[in-house]
Amino acid sequence: MALEFRAVTKVFPTNAGTPLTAVSGVSFRVDEGEFVSVVGPSGCGKSTILSMTAGLYQPSEGEVLVSGTRVDGPNAHVGFMLQKDLLLPWRTIISNIEFGLESRGVPRAERRARAIAELRHCHLDGFETQYPYQLSGGMRQRAALARTLAIDPEIILLDEPFSALDAQTKLLLQNSFAKTIAEAGKTTLLITHDLAEAVLMSDRILVLSERPGTIIAEIKVDLPHR
Ligand code: ADP
Ligand code: ADP
Repeated sequence: MALEFRAVTKVFPTNAGTPLTAVSGVSFRVDEGEFVSVVGPSGCGKSTILSMTAGLYQPSEGEVLVSGTRVDGPNAHVGFMLQKDLLLPWRTIISNIEFGLESRGVPRAERRARAIAELRHCHLDGFETQYPYQLSGGMRQRAALARTLAIDPEIILLDEPFSALDAQTKLLLQNSFAKTIAEAGKTTLLITHDLAEAVLMSDRILVLSERPGTIIAEIKVDLPHR
């Protein structure tokens, strides 16, 4: 089992005094290599679920397990990618990919080889020495995916990765990300408010209710897309 939520509830304190329950009694499992999406209306706790998987928040009740181990803080097993790429603007694309590996102590020669391989995998060969501002928004998101894959985490978290892109680029990237991630065999959790995107990309979809988020439906996707 790559990822497991066991009866997870998250309650936030508020300034008004009344605590706010963001998610309530959420249980699900994601198999190794599986691509699962979490969809639901704004404010239903999708980001909270990702943050707890990444170890940025602790559940108030229940537990989150990655590869059978309880998540108790940020860790190298989980890699994430956000809406905005957060590439370092003063570094070239290849240097951005290598940067994440540097902090993990990967030797220089291996960093270069892994960065080059991932850029090719994400269809960015030829753009290694360009700077982020020289690339389109879609290409920057591909570079951000390359950076996440290069780190080789057990689980990839995608937080609305296409929300800042135009419709056509979005569609292209939804297809190419699903393919690239499937080739890499990565366990993935995507959060999105876009059900069509979830259908296009996932093996399975968890539908959350309005806040507090609880799982109200689970959809098995059976398209030959992956
Ligand atoms: P979604 O990603 O589905 O839009 P979120 O997980 O961001 O939902 O938020 C769920 C609820 O929890 C919202 O009402 C939000 O305001 C609240 N919330 C999220 N993070 C915090 C926080 N750090 N402190 C207080 N409330 C929070
Ligand atoms: P810094 O890492 O010092 O901020 P840059 O952002 O200019 O420097 O990144 C340059 C990085 O890209 C260096 O690690 C350099 O070795 C690498 N690099 C430059 N040209 C190429 C190339 N043609 N192919 C692969 N790597 C390159």
